[in-house]
Amino acid sequence: MNFLIQRSGLNDIYEKVAAGERISEADAVRLFESKDLNAVGAIADFARQKCVGNRASYIINRYVNYSNYCILSCQFCSFARKKRDADGFQFSVEEIVQKAREALKLGITELHIVGGLHPSLPFSYYTDMLKALKNLDARLQLKCFTAIEILHLAWQAKKTVEQTLLELKAAGLESLTGGGAEIFRKEVRSAIARGKESAEEYLDVHRTWHRLGGRSTCTMLYGHVESLEDRVDHLRQLRALQDETHGFVGFVPLASQPEHNDIPVQNPPTGFDSLRTLAISRIYLDNFDHITAYWVGLGMKLAQVALSYGADDLHGTIIEEHIFHMAGATSPQLQTEADMIKAIREAGCVPVQRNTFYEPIRILDPAAAGSSTETGAHSKVLEDNLATA
Ligand code: SF4
Repeated sequence: MNFLIQRSGLNDIYEKVAAGERISEADAVRLFESKDLNAVGAIADFARQKCVGNRASYIINRYVNYSNYCILSCQFCSFARKKRDADGFQFSVEEIVQKAREALKLGITELHIVGGLHPSLPFSYYTDMLKALKNLDARLQLKCFTAIEILHLAWQAKKTVEQTLLELKAAGLESLTGGGAEIFRKEVRSAIARGKESAEEYLDVHRTWHRLGGRSTCTMLYGHVESLEDRVDHLRQLRALQDETHGFVGFVPLASQPEHNDIPVQNPPTGFDSLRTLAISRIYLDNFDHITAYWVGLGMKLAQVALSYGADDLHGTIIEEHIFHMAGATSPQLQTEADMIKAIREAGCVPVQRNTFYEPIRILDPAAAGSSTETGAHSKVLEDNLATA
């Protein structure tokens, strides 16, 4: 057994992980309370190696926010605007298609599209948008909408959630995004996102989507007013739904950003807190294959370190991010593929360009740096374009 684990007093948890046994919520709280970050990281790294080996992935994608108008005013949100606000925006379908057209030249394989809960856009706007993007390039994977947007669209269009999802799927939707989970405990939700859908509603949208054959990711917004027990409770509910549906392809912990919003966060997430949260997610969520270190919130340097603390994915190139940056994130707006490959290689992992479902598109063989098991024309194009942008 690793020396770090031996001296940490966490041997029993390591033994469970080594034996393929599930850890309990009490174990997860103990991991959170441990100050021995390297021991927690060593257990997570062991779990990660058992699950996905030494690979670490990234995706070439672009974010699009179709609008920041929102009928809610979640206290933690720095993104939403009302119609009276001068910096509110909404894009037409044609404008979104134009953004996609430009990004396709950069080699993206995925568009990640979310917005606020718009007060008045008709349901046809969303289906027209999906259809137009699929018409532009049928291979482009469309990962769109949070569970709360789905509930909002269903409510506005007077459809059931199932019917809403079926119609969006028929128009081209391939994956739901994981946003909107925040922290599931009711009291915390009221404190940071009053009026937002409940945990049960969030989980039920994903449950329905999975039953229809869809796949999605899920998230947890940590580092605001929640307790460590609240984080464990959140993970417990995600693990339970994954046991039921096996429809989540990855988990993305999100470090909260404290600027320009109404949450009085005294101690926003530190590097220590983010690494342990990623590590414990890997150890506790034994039915998830992929844990993403979201560089937008962490910064690329910490996201790279997280690859040794249970994470096996760095998310994507993104190109244009608003939600975290309006809340004070100081990371850049985009990453180049070259930078992500470099970060992954330096961390001792094999870089894998993935698709929306975390399936490999291209595996870069470390024994022959620069070569790959498949040709990835997209990636080279992106690198060249960003280099000259
Ligand atoms: S977090 Fe989402 S639902 Fe809440 S105010 Fe912001 S955009 Fe609206």
